[in-house]
Amino acid sequence: VARIVVNIANAPSYDVRIGGNLVEKLGGYLREVNQSDTALVITDENVGPLYLAAAKASLVDAGYRTLDITVPAGEGSKSVAVSSEIWTAMADLKLGRDVLVVALGGGVVGDLAGFVAATYMRGVAFAQVPTTLLAMVDSSVGGKTGINLEQGKNLVGSFKQPIQVCASASVLATLPEREWACGCAEIAKSAVIDSDEFFFWLTDAAEALAARDEGVVAEAIARSVVFKANVVAEDETESRGVRECLNYGHTLGHAIEALAGFGAFSHGAAVAEGMRFAARLGAACVGTPTDLIFAQDELLDALGLPSLDWSAKPEELLAAMKGDKKVRGGHLRFVLPREVGLWEVVEVDDETVLEHLGAWVR
Ligand code: NAD
Ligand code: ZN
Repeated sequence: VARIVVNIANAPSYDVRIGGNLVEKLGGYLREVNQSDTALVITDENVGPLYLAAAKASLVDAGYRTLDITVPAGEGSKSVAVSSEIWTAMADLKLGRDVLVVALGGGVVGDLAGFVAATYMRGVAFAQVPTTLLAMVDSSVGGKTGINLEQGKNLVGSFKQPIQVCASASVLATLPEREWACGCAEIAKSAVIDSDEFFFWLTDAAEALAARDEGVVAEAIARSVVFKANVVAEDETESRGVRECLNYGHTLGHAIEALAGFGAFSHGAAVAEGMRFAARLGAACVGTPTDLIFAQDELLDALGLPSLDWSAKPEELLAAMKGDKKVRGGHLRFVLPREVGLWEVVEVDDETVLEHLGAWVR
């Protein structure tokens, strides 16, 4: 079991544990850092039938009274309505400030349960048991929690650090291929932004990762968590600009998702496409070397994230990117790799973006 410590300035530090069969050990791990009587497990209707019983049994063994709430699977549960149902249920159950909220699921459950934990009685303890690869390598670490409004994603939320993250690679056995690829895209993103060392390791390990080799999967998670923990430690609340690097590939990626209709392409497929584009835009704006562009293409191919077969009007993509909340002022901001491990945020004027989109989307 790997144990990575996340140190954030204004919150207690916490561990991310990574290994096999950790759901079965959850109760004991949480007991090391939490003395609550009651654990409320929040999960979704796909994950619940698979792993809720094991999680609860382990919590009971560790002396917790356990309660659970199952929400519908999918992005729709990151809503005011579902949050309200959970707050109401918690109040009806007369849960007090000492309850421990445990998120058992992917990023949707993590963001939702974290938000509920951040807000119920002004904040109760919260632990993450991520069950998707994306949640293990990205969303469970860093403390961003939140829900969506009709006007946009993640418009309401809070920074809420967990008391622990318990990533059990064994649960990934049941993860659908599409969700697997989403996690791989975030791992590739992390590697390009982080370092040569991570990037070359991942390039060598890509096939084994795609084949879900256990040791390689655990190492990919650990490397991604170390990367994200370092970024977040430097910039918890996205006020120093450092955290912006996590957005690599996402400017165009989000636009592709929005334009194609959410769900048409997976988040990972859209982000991978966004990375391919950003590297090419980088060649024009910050001198991204051709080697990087092609090495990244090969890496994404090997991870099961082939170039998308799609077409869109450059003007529509530009408009969709500008609808993204990450625009400041008039210019679009892109995270561009100058080299592997060396990134820059560049404001690019519309004309340049359109010109490159025109060459990219046929
Ligand atoms: P998700 O939570 O919707 O999970 C994807 C699907 O896989 C769901 O249908 C789920 O029920 C199912 N599933 C989960 N674990 C499973 C398992 N072990 N076996 C079988 N099926 C399983 O999606 P996600 O990709 O994990 O998370 C996406 C969300 O994460 C988005 O809402 C996004 O905004 C958020 N996010 C948050 C952060 C952050 O920093 N807080 C970062 C990135 C993404
Ligand atoms: Zn992402």
